[in-house]
Amino acid sequence: MKGLPAETDFVVIGAGVAGLRAAIELAEAGRVLVLAKKEVTNSNTQYAQGGIAAALSDEDEVSLHLQDTLNAGDGLCNSEAVKVLVEEGPGRIEELIAWGTHFDRNGTKLVFGREGAHSRSRILHAQGDSTGREILRALYAKAQSLKTISVVEFEFSTSLITEGERVTGISLISEKGIGEEVGCSAVLLATGGMGQLYRNTTNPDVATGDGVAMAFRAGAEVSDMEFIQFHPTALYLKKAPRFLLSEALRGEGAYLRNIELNRFMAKYHPLGELAPRDVVARAIVHEMEVSRAKDPFVYLDLTHLDAAKVQKRFPRIYATCMQHNIDITEDLIPIRPAAHYAMGGVRTDLHGKASLAGLYAAGEAAATGVHGANRLASNSLLEGLVYGARAGNAMRSELRQARPRAGGPKKAASQNGPVDAGIEELIGQIQDLMWNDVGIVRTWAGMQKSIQTLQELTPRVAHPHTRRAHEAANLHCAGLLVARSALARQESRGAHYRTDYPDHDDKKFLRHSVVKSESMRFV
Ligand SMILES: Cc1cc2nc3c(=O)[nH]c(=O)nc-3n(C[C@H](O)[C@H](O)[C@H](O)COP(=O)(O)OP(=O)(O)OC[C@H]3O[C@@H](n4cnc5c(N)ncnc54)[C@H](O)[C@@H]3O)c2cc1C
Repeated sequence: MKGLPAETDFVVIGAGVAGLRAAIELAEAGRVLVLAKKEVTNSNTQYAQGGIAAALSDEDEVSLHLQDTLNAGDGLCNSEAVKVLVEEGPGRIEELIAWGTHFDRNGTKLVFGREGAHSRSRILHAQGDSTGREILRALYAKAQSLKTISVVEFEFSTSLITEGERVTGISLISEKGIGEEVGCSAVLLATGGMGQLYRNTTNPDVATGDGVAMAFRAGAEVSDMEFIQFHPTALYLKKAPRFLLSEALRGEGAYLRNIELNRFMAKYHPLGELAPRDVVARAIVHEMEVSRAKDPFVYLDLTHLDAAKVQKRFPRIYATCMQHNIDITEDLIPIRPAAHYAMGGVRTDLHGKASLAGLYAAGEAAATGVHGANRLASNSLLEGLVYGARAGNAMRSELRQARPRAGGPKKAASQNGPVDAGIEELIGQIQDLMWNDVGIVRTWAGMQKSIQTLQELTPRVAHPHTRRAHEAANLHCAGLLVARSALARQESRGAHYRTDYPDHDDKKFLRHSVVKSESMRFV
């Protein structure tokens, strides 16, 4: 594609499962411009290892998937949204298969795996532990086969353009470092998660909460921001990324051991290593604290399992750990918990519609309420598919509701660089603050301190000119939203745990937090 158009029919920001599925749905209705800020292969979708859940097997029922999802959400799921997810999920997966997605099979039969908190075997995998990569490959190929869709890499969207209460386009920094605008009938935010808010995260570098920050700044409502899921087991090596070590490893029988090599999970939960994610993450934090180590971690131990089976079932995990000289069939794996998934995001209805006209959100950037206070494993790829398709469908009705605002190049600028050491330091400061004070175990004093410090940092993110400075501003914005929402929720629920209110308070807080500008309410 030669340059970006000054106007188009639909802009989809994000080329993960949600954005690509929405674009495919929109293709018949008009021209669709899909933007990715780096390569299409750099997204949370690409890294999803565990699988995708749906009630497709003979032994399963939609009602059981519904119940398991509601249980994981700890009372806070929007049951209508979950109903949509589990009822439409199987059809969306069959469609994916028809478009060429290869899920693992035994002969011709799909193989359904079992995961913690799922009452039936309902998880589809691709090449063992590369499910997201395979889904993304197939969706991208399908999108590329449709003439009205243009998927453009390295285009960094910075903000939404509004006229009154309506979104009419976006501003971006192009691959060439030029500030541009594109007008359109509707925008979908499919920008994924915000794991980069935290010092330790399983998310790739693109997950900086851009969509949530753009929507918030434009005046849209965001919801459930306090609920960040921490994955208990990410590889912990000083100079390596926090590579995810899937839940399925514990499903296959892996043990957790503290640095004295003792198994400890039985002290914390009757299900031991198979306890819910948040329980395991808090248990690990406690073991790390009592170890008093300067640089604490615990171990994941697979050495008692059948080595050949482990290699066959987890080829990507095996190969990645081998790159760091860890043979998972013989060596203990050092791990720490890491920020993994944002349950909250841009508040939408069941069709992905946000609170501003012309604005939609889907996938991890959205808050439909489908995950409640804690996400059931393997439900998020499914959410991206189901709600991506729904948002695409709903956006069709926006076509030419408003005359697209003509955009085009704005001004030449050195907006792609150079790398600013001050910005990197600032981002590091935000990540440490969030990890220490708005992380797995939250205290009143820590949350207060983090809000105050973030507010003090506001002038440093006020006028971003480079991509990285925009990311810093977005992380700062998302961090404040998480901290404010966490402080306001005076209870513990799902992934949100605070020491001063360790129990549920259903009377006051069986509701969703909603933030718009300075106002915060529970609905
Ligand atoms: C390591 C890991 C393992 C996981 N395992 C599973 C699993 O087994 N099963 C499961 O269901 N879920 C899993 N998840 C969660 C799941 O992968 C994600 O929630 C889901 O893929 C999110 O899809 P998405 O389309 O919303 O966003 P993403 O796939 O993250 O895509 C976001 C897109 O937005 C683009 N973007 C962001 N900001 C901008 C901007 N400013 N301008 C332009 N483009 C932008 C990015 O470039 C990217 O293309 C896992 C996540 C991780 C990190």
